[in-house]
Amino acid sequence: MSLRALLPRTETLRSTVDLLAGGLKTREKIDAFRDRRLRALVQHAARHIPFYREHFARAGLDVRDVRGAADLHRLPLVTRADLAGRAAGDLVPPGTSLNGLISHRTSGSTGEPLTIRRAPGEETLLALFRTRQLRRHGMRAGDNLVVIGLFSEQQEGPAGTWRSARHALRRYRTHRINTLREAEDLLEQIHAARADVIGGFPSTLARVAQHLIETGTPPPPVRLVSVGGEVATTLMKKQIAEGFAAPVRQTYGSHEFNMIAAECPATGDMHVIDDNMILEVLREDGAPASPGEQGEAVGTALHSFTMPFLRYRLDDIVVQGEDRCACGAPYRTIRRVTGRMIDYFTLPGGRVVHPYELTVPMLSEDPWMRQYQMTQEATDRIVLRAIAWEKPSGAHLRRIEKSAEEVFGPGVSFRIELVDRLPNEKSGKFRPSRSLVKSEYDSRDA
Ligand SMILES: [Zn+2]
Repeated sequence: MSLRALLPRTETLRSTVDLLAGGLKTREKIDAFRDRRLRALVQHAARHIPFYREHFARAGLDVRDVRGAADLHRLPLVTRADLAGRAAGDLVPPGTSLNGLISHRTSGSTGEPLTIRRAPGEETLLALFRTRQLRRHGMRAGDNLVVIGLFSEQQEGPAGTWRSARHALRRYRTHRINTLREAEDLLEQIHAARADVIGGFPSTLARVAQHLIETGTPPPPVRLVSVGGEVATTLMKKQIAEGFAAPVRQTYGSHEFNMIAAECPATGDMHVIDDNMILEVLREDGAPASPGEQGEAVGTALHSFTMPFLRYRLDDIVVQGEDRCACGAPYRTIRRVTGRMIDYFTLPGGRVVHPYELTVPMLSEDPWMRQYQMTQEATDRIVLRAIAWEKPSGAHLRRIEKSAEEVFGPGVSFRIELVDRLPNEKSGKFRPSRSLVKSEYDSRDA
């Protein structure tokens, strides 16, 4: 692989420094940057990415008509299924070595698995946007950042200095802990890592906060709790703020884009990360939503040339905010996101299991699966409904059943149903896992 391929496609070194040091300071600079990047990306995709070449041709698009974000509506929308149905080679420039790319296999909020690929430089750049956001929310140089996420035992622990660009630039010490650990265990590790800042799923941190409140344990001395990755309900945020006695700030992101929006501490709305991606909120008739109106989130990544995402449907429902935040920041805003909702399953005897314990290994091992939904129908009964690209073998199904028995235990009946379609919620939102026994999202607080 050439050196060029390892670096993110930045316009100039200066513009990258501007972006990451504090971001572009005025709306004019941000908008000019978005327009330039969009033109470059659309031309690149039409020329070099087989999927987009066909997709644009089918829509009769002349790429010369796309001069900036104001012309975005000319581009046809792209769905997760459009990309998931294509060979990897159709989604990246010809001659790209897939082995040299960093890939994430994810099901997002739709239960539809997709592999996202980025050059190492692109991956680093997106990670730096996240760090920039944590800094804006109150993280300081020298802080211990504890990230609670989906990490294997090998990935847990302190992140190596030489690997972490964030560490090199700002001297943060990052420590990773697996989100599936018990609350007590998580707390012990948070203390051991001497966390100043904690980042993680709101459901996990609410569980730890509940434990702190119920046992009357003094909270670890953290200055900031950053939540993201799934919808944070009002109740979850209240519990976390009370349990940890620290401010809770929400971010909205996805594997395709990394940072999409982040809470404004002044107004409680969310700033769209306009220099990382273009976010459109579209009504059912396809027109842009006005402030206060609800619509579908559609994203265009400004830094992904290896596997571009142009007018990509995120399958999240968003309430549009003011065109410019009242706090004075130059960013567009959204008010609220209804994104990924993952329920924990409370099993007979009170044991609590996160569905990820089954679905994460399953996603990496079952390429036949096109979309899935896991439902806890009764305390002791769980059903996995799946749509298949091609009929899975008996051995595939038995392997999933065996892991399910290990995760849920022998007292729980588990079955797999192959189906042709999976229903959406009344809100139009799809829920990859849901408990009919107890759900944070179905309570009135959600
Ligand atoms: Zn603001």
